[in-house]
Amino acid sequence: MNQAFIDLRSDTVTRPTARMREAMILAPVGDDVYGEDPTVNLLEQTAADMLGKEAALFAPSGTQANLLALISHCGRGDEYIAGQQAHLYRYEAGGAAVLGGIQPQPLDFQVDGTLDLKVVAGLVKPPDFHFARTRLLCLENTQAGKVLPMAYLQQAADLARRLDLRLHLDGARIFNAAVKLQIPAAQIAAPFDSLSVCLSKGLGAPVGSLLCGSAALIDQARRWRKMLGGGMRQAGLLAAAGLIALQEHVARLAEDHAKAQQLAEGLATIDELAVEPAEVQTNMVFAWPVEEVAENLKNYLKEQGIKVGGYGNLRMVTHLDISNRDIERTIATVKRYFGR
Ligand SMILES: *Cc1c(COP(=O)(O)O)cnc(C)c1O
Repeated sequence: MNQAFIDLRSDTVTRPTARMREAMILAPVGDDVYGEDPTVNLLEQTAADMLGKEAALFAPSGTQANLLALISHCGRGDEYIAGQQAHLYRYEAGGAAVLGGIQPQPLDFQVDGTLDLKVVAGLVKPPDFHFARTRLLCLENTQAGKVLPMAYLQQAADLARRLDLRLHLDGARIFNAAVKLQIPAAQIAAPFDSLSVCLSKGLGAPVGSLLCGSAALIDQARRWRKMLGGGMRQAGLLAAAGLIALQEHVARLAEDHAKAQQLAEGLATIDELAVEPAEVQTNMVFAWPVEEVAENLKNYLKEQGIKVGGYGNLRMVTHLDISNRDIERTIATVKRYFGR
């Protein structure tokens, strides 16, 4: 597909492939609010199977899938614990508080993307009417491209059981983690009561996320989805692309990871940039230039047809529409900026 920019801002910028567009045209559809869209039903069943959960629910966005989880697990006056930089706390417009009456208890992520479980345990409120009722612990995997250690997930699940908390995973990029660890995503999902999964990130679907969990939880979430206006009718058109994403685009995430590694290694040769190729685990590369340089460099890259993200730093995310040549061109352009 003709693309004017090398767009490394996010893996959300992928456009549906020809195979996806074809599947969308041919998809059998029905009214999903009546539960009668065969393609949506197949997508939900496929996702539930791949993630080892009883049921799944198709949602228009990851933001809504996370919100459905939060308000299905927690009631008004309840509390959830999440990373200070977690998408579902920081980047979802405060939806849980606004729409669910749920209080967040954020704490900083550690450098490896985990939450310190000792600190988490200390933040759980005692059963006393002065306090909100702590109900839910939320993790994110991958977290800024980092894969949470499997042993840690078990420890988090043990803590949650001991303290009577539910456990939710923002698994927007769980398949990047699974591909990196070379294990089925279901193994990563196993300790969690619920998880959200994005189809529209590296998997390349134009729209859509799934919330997965027990049949009872998904029943509740379906009611909330309706209330939030997420009940879509012939949504099989979208689900058809999602099926291609799940069936054909998971294994190829390894290519995105290799390109991120290539990009990090190329940029690491530039003295003016701090980049750690060893820290790149999946499809995200972070580079820290001196603060003033960051904005100038970003503007220069944009003039040269390359878009990157980040606040103060550079965030570069590889995906389906980024080629090896794009990576080479990006490295060469950054080098040119620094005068070599
Ligand atoms: C993208 C993303 C989401 C969901 O975002 P939407 O744009 O609402 O689909 C949730 N969590 C994480 C970690 C994400 O990267």
